[in-house]
Order: sequence, then C-alpha cells, then structure tokens
Amino acid sequence: MKFPIYLDSHATTPVDPRVFDEMKSYFTENFGNASSLDHSFGYDASVAVQQGREKIAHAIGSTMDEIIFTSGATESDNLALIGVMERNKEKGNHLITCVTEHKAILDTAHHLEKIGYKVTFLPVDEFGQVDVESVKSAITSETVLISIMFANNEIGTITNVSEIGKIAHDKNVLFHTDAAQAVGHLPINVEKMNIDLMSFSSHKIYGPKGIGALYVRGIMPRVKINPIVFGGGQERNLRSGTLNVPGIVGFAKAIEISQAEMDSENIRFKKWTGFMLEKLSGADAKLNGHPTKRLAHNLNVRFDGIESKAIINSVSKKIAISAGSACTTKMVEPSHVLMALGLDEDQAHSAIRIGCSRFNTDEEIKVAAEEIYSAIGALAKIRA
Ligand SMILES: *Cc1c(COP(=O)(O)O)cnc(C)c1O
Repeated sequence: MKFPIYLDSHATTPVDPRVFDEMKSYFTENFGNASSLDHSFGYDASVAVQQGREKIAHAIGSTMDEIIFTSGATESDNLALIGVMERNKEKGNHLITCVTEHKAILDTAHHLEKIGYKVTFLPVDEFGQVDVESVKSAITSETVLISIMFANNEIGTITNVSEIGKIAHDKNVLFHTDAAQAVGHLPINVEKMNIDLMSFSSHKIYGPKGIGALYVRGIMPRVKINPIVFGGGQERNLRSGTLNVPGIVGFAKAIEISQAEMDSENIRFKKWTGFMLEKLSGADAKLNGHPTKRLAHNLNVRFDGIESKAIINSVSKKIAISAGSACTTKMVEPSHVLMALGLDEDQAHSAIRIGCSRFNTDEEIKVAAEEIYSAIGALAKIRA
C-alpha cells in the first residue's frame, strides 16, 4: 500500500489514466487553435472540441450549443451570477442564494451587493438543506435569479434541485445551480430538473484542472447573459479566449467515464463511507450533514472536544484528509457551512472531511478508518 492514502476528493481528484491517454496528442501533434480553421491543425482541434462538447452536453441532457467552456466552476459561477444579473437589469436587481454555497458563489454575491444589487442569503436546516418554501417566499417582483448548489462540497448534502427549479419557473425567475460536486456523481438532467444555468468542473471528476463549463439554457426560456471576459469572441462571444483543447478532450472523457461508472462506483463509496462511519462511531463520531441525502463518497464527522487540526496532523503521514473546504483551510475561522448547521465554533473546529475516490481500495479504507480511530483514541487520552 502506498502512503499517504488520498481521501480528499472534494478538493480535487487525480486525472484518470484513461483521460490522460485521450488528452496526450492534443498537447503535441494535434496542438491547433480550434478557431484557426484555415488549415488542418485548427480544423482537427475544432472537431475535437465539437466531439467533447457533444459528450458533455449528452451527459447532462442539454444540447451542444448550451455549453460554454470556462476555466472551471469558479469562473462559471462568476459568469452565471454577474452575467445574468447585469443582462437582466430591466427585470430587477434581486438575487437569492444560500449561506452554505462555495466561496465562488458567496464572494460573487457579495461583489454584486457592493455594486448595488440586492442579495438574499437563505439559511439551511441542521442537515444543510434549504427549505423549499423559504425559497418561494423570498421571491419578489425584483427577483431575477435563484442560485442554490446541487451538492455541498464540505458535508455532501444534496439539495432538492428539481423542486427549487420548478418554483423558479412558476415564478418566472431563472435558476442556477453550482453542480461542481454533483456532475459525474449523481444522475443529472437539466431539462427534467428545471435547471437554467449550471456550473461544473473537470477536476472533481478525474479530469484535468483548469477546465469547466457553464450550461446556459437555450430555449424555454432562452437565457440571456452578459460576458465577463472580452476578446476574440469564442463561445458565442460569452467567453473569449483560445479554447483549452486538451482540457476539453480530457473533461469530455472524464464525464463519459463517470456517467458509465457512476452507479457501481456509488455502491462502493456507500459501502466505504458506511464502514468508516460505523468504525468512527465507536470513537464518538457525529455525522455532519444529511444522513441519507448525501454524496456517497462524502463523510464529514466531528469528534466533540478534539480539534480537527490535531487529528489531521496526527494521521498526515498515512492519510490525506482535510478539515473542510480547500479554499478556506488557511483561515482560522470555522467553516461557514458547519456554522450554518447550527454548530458552535468548537464543534465546527472538530470536524474532518473524508472524500473517497475511484482509485481507493477496500484495504486503504480499512487502514484509514483504523488510523483515524486510533488517533482519536490517543488525542482523547491526552485531553483526559
Ligand atoms: C470545487 C468547487 C468549485 C470551484 O471549482 P474550480 O473548478 O476549482 O474553480 C466551486 N463550487 C463547488 C461546489 C466546488 O466543489
């Protein structure tokens, strides 16, 4: 067994070798610019982009021309929120989102507030879910957009996306979802789920970093957005910049594999996270998030009275786990997601997040559970 065992899949995942193989030639011989259609180099690149776009659209139940390639979910979130709010000023200036969103949404929403838009940050219940009725009652005649994440990156809680989308559509409001943790892990159909815009990313599903997409509904309703990046007019003028051809090829392969293997993978993940929860319950672990409506590969638990930093450090030679979101771990502030569940600061500082991956093994999961279990035992003893 190789150490440390990687169990931080919500932060990022390794590139699947099948994805890497598919990408290789687009760095070297097939290096063309997909917009340079005067020769075969550019033409071949544009065909690769077209095929990639087709696979990605197919995976989420959209059409090809509804996919805008970006550098990742962060940029997609920025484009969705700023692009929709700016473009629809004549309709209103109100955005609805929720307190447990990724910083890519929260900080963009705060930016919009600063430049004069109104934002409602809805609370969540103890499991991390937004109350569908509270979404409904937050809508005003000024509301343009509702943005609620599909699955949470810290606690894995899955949102009732279809219902929120239905409410949005009934009220003639647009619905965006940050699905960076959901695409490739859960079945998604933007049509059936009433989604108008959706952000997702390649590196959370065993694809390369630096490539992602924003789905933007083309009909019923046709969603109009403003660009936030200007230049050569790529992506129907909505996201200028030379297309990341190897990234797109890898992203498409990654999503194709994830779709094909999702069901069997989730069965394995559920077994693993269930096993770990049971083992760690013997060390008084308490589950953060929803007991059933959660990502199968996520486990977020806390050990009251024991600091997560101490746990992470004491197992770090053997296991790579985190205290929460990768983007906030440098701060001393407790996780905004855990605080939103109603935990106090000490409780929020006692949580660890485990994210299983396709490349883990039964043996690794067993060893990891034992390592954490005995680390907790040792730390509890020191404290006593
Ligand atoms: C990872 C993540 C992001 C950011 O995605 P990048 O592609 O790294 O920019 C945004 N939202 C959620 C929910 C995420 O998990």
